[in-house]
This record gives sequence, C-alpha cells and structure tokens, in this order.
Amino acid sequence: MTTPPAAPDNLQVGAHTYRVLVDHDGLVGVHADNRGSTHNETLTIALDGSLAATLQRETLLHETIHAAWDQTALTALEVQEQQEVVVTAFAPVLVAILRDNPKLVAYLTSP
Ligand SMILES: [Zn+2]
Repeated sequence: MTTPPAAPDNLQVGAHTYRVLVDHDGLVGVHADNRGSTHNETLTIALDGSLAATLQRETLLHETIHAAWDQTALTALEVQEQQEVVVTAFAPVLVAILRDNPKLVAYLTSP
C-alpha cells in the first residue's frame, strides 16, 4: 500500500495564492468542530491534520470552493447566506468525480 500524497503547500485560486497549512497541533486556526477553515484575508487554508486521507482531500476541496466563492459575485447576492450548504453539497461529489475520472481531469486541465 502506498502512502497518499501530502496536501499541496500552496493553491492558486484565481488571482491569489493560498497557503495550505495542515494543523497537527491546533495552532493554525482549525476549531475542534471543523475539519478545515479558509481565511480569505490572509490567503490561508487550514486543514485538520488528524483527518483520514480521503476526508482531508474532501476538506481541502471544500475549503478551495470557499476561496473560489470569495472571488465571485456570489458574495454580493442573497445566496451568500447559503454558502456553507452549497459548498458542503458539492465538495464530496466533485472530489469523487475528479478521483474517478482521471481522463476528465487530464482533458479539463490540458493547456
Ligand atoms: Zn465550509
């Protein structure tokens, strides 16, 4: 069995580069009731380092969608109040689609 890859240190989300911090000791802002958090003012995403690998991946995509949301006009609409519901609904489905369709990922990310 191979070791899953570590989360990337940085993510490019639109015009911004987010630092990704994996929190193993509670020092980077992940609260006990959250698996991760996104800080758009400091361009930082924090992940709970105690999560199983698949949960950590889903959480990183979840937080990445939050970061993307912050760069859209959705922030100015009433739907902003539904951000957590929308992000929580899409993240596990999208991570499964990306994992299960490597040809789709190659197609979408080709230059
Ligand atoms: Zn969230």
